[in-house]
Amino acid sequence: MFEEGRKMRKALVVGSGAGGATVARELQGTFDVTILEAGKPFRPFPFSLDLLEQVRKSGLFFDEREIQWVFPAMKIRKTSEKMVLVNGIGTGGTTPLSTGNAIRLDGDLKGLGIDLDREFEQLAQEIPISTDHQSCWNPTTRNLFEICQSLGFHPQPTPKMGNYGQCTHCGRCVFGCPFGVKWDSRQFLKEAVSKGAQLVTGCRVDSVVIEEGMAKGIRVANRLSSRFIPADVIILAAGGLGTPEILKRSGIPCSSCLFVDPVLCVASERKEAFQNTEVAMPFFFQRDRYMVSPYFDYLSFFFDRKWRKPATGIVSWMIKLSDSNEGSMYGGKVHKKLTDSDRRYLQEGVEICRELFSKMGIRKEEVFLGTLNAGHPGGMLPLSEHEASSLHPPALPENVYVADATLLPKSPGGPPILTIMALAMKISSRIKQYGIPCS
Ligand SMILES: Cc1cc2nc3c(=O)[nH]c(=O)nc-3n(C[C@H](O)[C@H](O)[C@H](O)COP(=O)(O)OP(=O)(O)OC[C@H]3O[C@@H](n4cnc5c(N)ncnc54)[C@H](O)[C@@H]3O)c2cc1C
Ligand code: SF4
Repeated sequence: MFEEGRKMRKALVVGSGAGGATVARELQGTFDVTILEAGKPFRPFPFSLDLLEQVRKSGLFFDEREIQWVFPAMKIRKTSEKMVLVNGIGTGGTTPLSTGNAIRLDGDLKGLGIDLDREFEQLAQEIPISTDHQSCWNPTTRNLFEICQSLGFHPQPTPKMGNYGQCTHCGRCVFGCPFGVKWDSRQFLKEAVSKGAQLVTGCRVDSVVIEEGMAKGIRVANRLSSRFIPADVIILAAGGLGTPEILKRSGIPCSSCLFVDPVLCVASERKEAFQNTEVAMPFFFQRDRYMVSPYFDYLSFFFDRKWRKPATGIVSWMIKLSDSNEGSMYGGKVHKKLTDSDRRYLQEGVEICRELFSKMGIRKEEVFLGTLNAGHPGGMLPLSEHEASSLHPPALPENVYVADATLLPKSPGGPPILTIMALAMKISSRIKQYGIPCS
């Protein structure tokens, strides 16, 4: 069935985020790779945040989706239940918007029999990961860390991808690092291109064209025209929402197992805290179904009336929940309802944050919540133990693979980039090892 000896067959990789950039780099050379990316080359947000804080007073900011007008690399949608979903559209996908956290979260994949040890080792050799930022923490962060320690929460400085020894502590991490400190998947993309891969930006993939059970290529469509691009193998890495959308338009249904890792911030006023100029998520502690970390939440700061305080005078804790795999997309909308158990754990997190604030001398009545948001979608074509070696869900044609968060069996409840890249590396090895079916 598999053709031996023929080289440089054509692979189309859809998306250039954590999964897509990794696959493109791994496959280029064995295949002639073209990366199709819906967004444009990523540029950090150019405007002064102090200036926007002034504009905020005018009341012009009322819907989070306005961000896209000034920062097209950040896509914002709202679920039918009004949760704000954030993801990246541009080279590097969501990774340039990330806070650089690098945590291995492959427990559930391991449980299925998928061993990623080798891939994580390779990533650790290639990507600078450290807690160097700790030596420059500001007094507020140091104080918060000590409070967590004193309450027995065992906080850990967050390992970060990049050269954090050079971090200027400007606090703009989620807007794209203006100083090139953070590592993101554009590095792998650059390597893929330097090896000969072709990167096409501004190219939104509509669907995979399938005939007699095999993919023939991809249809790219905009409002005015539609174009067919042939390929021997197709790797979808358009992210936890983008890939299921493409599959659906290709006649391949996904399951209603969407997770998003909801984020809720719990905040209070504190004069001259300067958390807005600190590296985002400098440390964290882990609880049963959620993590807690200091985080200045710009989404709430700009759009939530309760947050109309000076940026320098807010202290905020983030609760990041590992939510139930229950959510779907239909009628052009994302549907994501928190289950009772999700709500219980979020509430538990809020109580813990109140306890942390109380240790800072801040009363319960002075604490306010942020906007419920999320930025780690995935899980709609989850791997099971049956695919532990093929890494190929049976719903897909033989020559179509998925290599992004869509495959994760459960919500990681924490930073997934490293795990997605390790999985994408293994999928690439599998494609190289077993070849692709003859067309
Ligand atoms: C504010 C924020 C901070 C974060 N911080 C961290 C962190 O510190 N550490 C961490 O591990 N994770 C972090 N994450 C999450 C992480 O960035 C994502 O989970 C991860 O990038 C997902 O990888 P992916 O390959 O599944 O998709 P993405 O990285 O989102 O890439 C998908 C790509 O596909 C493209 N695309 C979508 N549809 C199409 C289409 N139809 N045609 C062509 N291209 C398409 C998109 O433009 C995008 O480039 C953060 C997320 C957010 C929102
Ligand atoms: S805080 Fe550091 S990593 Fe974050 S954007 Fe500023 S310089 Fe870059």
